[in-house]
Amino acid sequence: MKFLFVAINSKYIHSNPAVRILREYALAHDPSIPEGELCILESTINNPFEEILSNVCEQEPDVVLLSCYIWNWNVMRRLAQEISERLPDAVIWAGGPEVSFESEKILRENSWLSGIMQGEGEESCLKLIQSFRAGNPLYGILAGGEVQMAELPFIYSEDAQESFQNKILYYESSRGCPFSCSYCLSSVSRRVRIRPWEKVEKELDFFYRAKVKQVKFVDRTFNCDHEHCQRILRWILGHDNGVTNYHFEIAGDLLNEEEIALLAQMRPGQVQLEIGVQTTNPDVIKEIRRTMDLDKLSSNVEKIRQGGNVHQHLDLIAGLPLEDFSSFRKSFDDVYAMRPDQLQLGFLKVLKGSYMAEKAADYGIVYMDEAPYEVISTRWISADEIKLLKRVEDVLEVYFNTHQFEASIKALENCFDSAFNMYEQLADYIQMMHYDLHGPTRLDRYQILLRFAMQTNPEKEVLWKEALTLDYYRREKAKKRPPFANDRKPYEKQVRLFYEEGLPKRDHVDLFTYSVWEEETRRLDPPAFLDFDYDHLSPLDHNAGIRIIGYLQEENHLL
Ligand code: SF4
Repeated sequence: MKFLFVAINSKYIHSNPAVRILREYALAHDPSIPEGELCILESTINNPFEEILSNVCEQEPDVVLLSCYIWNWNVMRRLAQEISERLPDAVIWAGGPEVSFESEKILRENSWLSGIMQGEGEESCLKLIQSFRAGNPLYGILAGGEVQMAELPFIYSEDAQESFQNKILYYESSRGCPFSCSYCLSSVSRRVRIRPWEKVEKELDFFYRAKVKQVKFVDRTFNCDHEHCQRILRWILGHDNGVTNYHFEIAGDLLNEEEIALLAQMRPGQVQLEIGVQTTNPDVIKEIRRTMDLDKLSSNVEKIRQGGNVHQHLDLIAGLPLEDFSSFRKSFDDVYAMRPDQLQLGFLKVLKGSYMAEKAADYGIVYMDEAPYEVISTRWISADEIKLLKRVEDVLEVYFNTHQFEASIKALENCFDSAFNMYEQLADYIQMMHYDLHGPTRLDRYQILLRFAMQTNPEKEVLWKEALTLDYYRREKAKKRPPFANDRKPYEKQVRLFYEEGLPKRDHVDLFTYSVWEEETRRLDPPAFLDFDYDHLSPLDHNAGIRIIGYLQEENHLL
């Protein structure tokens, strides 16, 4: 028999560990199953639908197992329907968080599905495969039990190293979360199960030896068990291959001094942290049943930031109950003031099976009928305000999270009483001018920012242009000089001398009259030459290293 696990990821760089775990678990627990009977087909939502469909059909599976998530459910549903038409004898089962709740309704509405595996899939998938192979096929709903963490297979191997090169490798060292945030499915089971250390240690050693680029821990709150968290951090610290980056989702307020001290010793770029803040309004925190000591979180984020070696990604959620526009504005400013490396502005998703879904009507939450079930409005925030926040999110992604405009944004911030106001006005300006933030050339985004800055304060033209020039060249050695950069002719001779004296040809040199790279920008007299070193990129933001290499000689004065 042929069983085909179908995974559709949201991006090429992602992979689906779930289907691999299910396959390996079944093979490990039932040696009578030939490896060749369990196949995996992995694709992304960006692949043409017809291509995915024909790849499934070409394999002529007897049983198709769809791995369903919020981002692929609409494609999976369509796929199931089309497969049932092209391969009428194939049996189609679905599993994953997207079908684990309201399963009966999903089965009723999607008659081409023969069954749904609810919850954790390892045990139920094995049972399902065995039932088909024994000639007593199961249909309907199969509820999964909690699997022992020691029983989970490790899905990466030396032989398959090539297949996961340039991919994020997902790793699970614990399951469950002790907290109960009302919008989150991880809160359904509050029991945390931890993988035995002997196994974790061996697996970390595999990542270390294989020089994997990034290992993303899918543990819901990595640091909820201090002993487990510290063991892993200590191991990573003692085994740095100079390449591997580890991503952890943590509760920022739970970090203790020992963990902060361990983090402070990591190689720059070795660890990145994702910290959910969601809101800074205490009433909202209480209403969403979240446990969070905001002062502790903020002070821990600052301690880590001072180390300058760990990338911190902070999350906010718009559309939470009790949070109106002005409260969200304050949450944004509070989190922005923590100076994260990235600030992700997300929107509430009302997930089936969550407490938020039960309370949605009471809260007056209007949300999309289809995945991703995102908030449209609530009793506290209007649809127009949510739309405005979407535009702010877009602007924030481009101008803050990419790190391509650091100096320019820092300079602009001084003209506004709040960071949110700045991004809001920038978003409004872009809309009013009908600019396309996602146009084909990177230069457009710099030009848009310059026009906005000029409209904000035309007297600072030189400062705006120098900040943009710095940002532009820190990202790459551009072949064509951007129109906002100064005229090089008057000082070209002096620049040539730097190269003649040994400066690498691949470096770029530019002249600045303001120290736009410093925390506090000051006027430079005489103007300074800045070297952009593309051989020494920052491991945190990938911008070129910079240093002053000389000052403008008087005879070349141009400004
Ligand atoms: S949002 Fe995070 S902390 Fe809250 S229940 Fe979910 S996983 Fe746990």
